[in-house]
Amino acid sequence: MSKMTRCYFCKGKLTEKKIHHVHHWGERIVVFEDVPAEVCQQCGEVYFRPEVLEKMDEAVLEELKPKARLSIPVFSMPELVAA
Ligand SMILES: [Zn+2]
Repeated sequence: MSKMTRCYFCKGKLTEKKIHHVHHWGERIVVFEDVPAEVCQQCGEVYFRPEVLEKMDEAVLEELKPKARLSIPVFSMPELVAA
């Protein structure tokens, strides 16, 4: 796959950035820090290279030891509105 330079959706310009990525895996939520990605300057769409995606899948599937664990607050909007 050749390197993308334009956003698939809006044709905006892509720039290489290191981002924090929240990965939803069924019921699990995994956070990756400093992930190299191409980010659209216009709409914010994020693109990962195949080898980066593979690494993230590997970390989840092989249950590699994470750097840290977070406790994540979960809010239900109907409950917030009713409160
Ligand atoms: Zn875009």
